[in-house]
Amino acid sequence: MTKRLSEQAILITGGASGIGRAAAESCARDGAKLAISDVNVEAGEETVSALRELGADAVFIRADVSISSEVESLIGKVVEKFGCLDGAFNNAGIESSWAHTVKASEEDFDRTIAVNLKGVWLCLKHEIKQMLEQGRGGSIVNTASVAGLVGARGGGSYVASKHGVVGLTKTASLEFSSKGVRVNSVCPGIIETPMVTRMLSETGLSKQVMIDQEPIGRLGEPKEIGDAVAWLLSNESSFVTGIAMPVDGGYTAV
Ligand code: NAP
Repeated sequence: MTKRLSEQAILITGGASGIGRAAAESCARDGAKLAISDVNVEAGEETVSALRELGADAVFIRADVSISSEVESLIGKVVEKFGCLDGAFNNAGIESSWAHTVKASEEDFDRTIAVNLKGVWLCLKHEIKQMLEQGRGGSIVNTASVAGLVGARGGGSYVASKHGVVGLTKTASLEFSSKGVRVNSVCPGIIETPMVTRMLSETGLSKQVMIDQEPIGRLGEPKEIGDAVAWLLSNESSFVTGIAMPVDGGYTAV
């Protein structure tokens, strides 16, 4: 039986950990060829080994998504390896320091925007250019967040970056869907990843406080986002473009 991502060459940024790694595993099970990119080389190489064990053709390419030349070179290397780029999950991101607007630092704001927002913009630019050159469309998913849909006290720069990702997604979708390039964003609720572990330790909050924000009564698992992303990347979502899709245990239903 043909799998829904068979022979599709897919790039995943921030693919060495958490949601990115889980999405890579979901895509591998669906038959994709995978380029994993991240700044964490050791974890990236380890992820690629795990993907190969699942039977996927996979490669690790180091790139910092906030640096234009590195993103351009990343897309070139993916095409060198697989001959094309069919799909991308622009997922690399950082948590900002947790501080109310008055106390937040300019340095933290600039870094958060550089990675979470400019990083997605740079990826979109180079990925869509490549997909248009190939002339057979493509599917791109950006990681926004529930923080791209609602505010969060103490998370101003993060919230701004993720609202920006939703805006970039809608705009690119309007510009390129008629040419066969679909662009969507996924908005995870609170998912158990190393990022959330760091946030708990930085803020001193208990895990229960986070669970209490989730109507479903638990935190999400990375695989629950990964499976949704694999669907958005596949042709099963062929009429879906420009959306900000919550996968959030009811977080934004309140
Ligand atoms: P994670 O476990 O920390 O994974 C993020 C990965 O991205 C890490 O391997 C990290 O490397 C890498 N990375 C950081 N900066 C980068 C850069 N400039 N260029 C390339 N790679 C970079 O976090 P996660 O929870 O899976 O988060 C993935 C995405 O989901 C992020 O965009 C995040 O904002 C979003 N998200 C997460 C949640 C959640 O609850 N976990 C909810 C909503 C949205 P290092 O570890 O070396 O920094």
